[in-house]
Amino acid sequence: MKPQNLDMEPNQGQPRPTLSSKVQRLQALSREEWQRDDWRWQMSHRLTSLDDLQSLWPEWTPTEKQKEVAQRYPFALTPYYMSLMEHPGPTDPIGRMAVPQAEEMNDNPALFRDPLTEEPNSPVPGLIHRYPDRVVLLLNGLCPVYCRHCTRKRLVGIEVAAANRKQIEGWVDYLKNTPSVKDVILSGGDPLTLSDDRLEEVLAAVRSVPSVEIIRIGTRIPVLMPMRVTPELCQMLAKYHPVWVVTHFNHPNELSPLAELACLRLLEAGCPVNNQAVLLRGVNDHPDIMEDMLRHLMRIRVRPYYLHQCDLIQGIEHLRTPISRGIEIMEALRGRLGGLAIPQYVVDLPQGGGKVPILPNYILSMSPTKTILRNFEGRIVAYPEPAFHPDENHPPRRERGGLADQLSGHHPGPIIPKSSK
Ligand code: SF4
Repeated sequence: MKPQNLDMEPNQGQPRPTLSSKVQRLQALSREEWQRDDWRWQMSHRLTSLDDLQSLWPEWTPTEKQKEVAQRYPFALTPYYMSLMEHPGPTDPIGRMAVPQAEEMNDNPALFRDPLTEEPNSPVPGLIHRYPDRVVLLLNGLCPVYCRHCTRKRLVGIEVAAANRKQIEGWVDYLKNTPSVKDVILSGGDPLTLSDDRLEEVLAAVRSVPSVEIIRIGTRIPVLMPMRVTPELCQMLAKYHPVWVVTHFNHPNELSPLAELACLRLLEAGCPVNNQAVLLRGVNDHPDIMEDMLRHLMRIRVRPYYLHQCDLIQGIEHLRTPISRGIEIMEALRGRLGGLAIPQYVVDLPQGGGKVPILPNYILSMSPTKTILRNFEGRIVAYPEPAFHPDENHPPRRERGGLADQLSGHHPGPIIPKSSK
């Protein structure tokens, strides 16, 4: 669909929105021209009001409720990402992920503002420490597009300021005093909305801590504004290796030639690119859609890493699927795709419980002599177990906590309630 001229006066009886100069410029461009290869232009031409969006899609009219939602949870849309939509309605996968829907106001009491308890796990501002060997640094709250399913819906577009020097120094002090942290994840908002210089300041600071082994950048830039992945950015990232990139494609329509180029540039700069998708109702909760996306990711050498069950975030009830839907998709994928292309399906438990991998059940029964399994076709096969004890000649293993250590008495903890012993 081509953007139409407002002179057509398509919405009879609706007040005609005043056109901003930004919208006028976008109206004068074709959909292909909305993909202009200039990330600063993309940022400065983001749509941030539903009236502006309506001006570009005159046959679409937002409701008052949708406008109310956009006040509570900010709206922003790059011309590039808009060019991937057929229309801004909820039946278009891009529209569904980017345009506010009235249902975001339905507050289900089972949902949380901060489902992963990031705030109580922030020993210093902007640093989240939930797992022993990893921390997340929140560099800013700015994104090119505010995804309707965002886990940090509570802050993106609201607390947009970038971390200042004092905050970065606080992170470095914490990392130096906590050598168990080996893996630092730069997140936000989207860290790649920072300029190269600001981002380099953070990378250099983190790299100055000898105990940090890897740096990961969590970013949706290859999806929402791929022209930000410039050769200069890649050159700069390559100075701080090992740097891994974790991105977030959810639908095959997002895999445009520009998105492919962004991933290729990152790969050629030595950054492995992994994908974390989120299972979203009406977007990708179908095995065929998921298969198409995973095959495409493999062709461009982006490794499917996680498929996330939706976090329990306020404002996303309409995008959630039951876990059974995810299992059904995983079951279907197992027969169709090689193992490299199949992501791990995980639920990130509320209240900081951490990620739990979920699989269809392939084990039918177990005994000391054999395990009975089924394959993806439903064939049932017995696997004979070894005659010797598996712990014979095994070096003692390191204690790491977790259920296995608790059950063996190495690391007593609260998982088994006293009453059930
Ligand atoms: S880009 Fe990432 S952080 Fe920003 S709104 Fe989308 S999911 Fe959230």
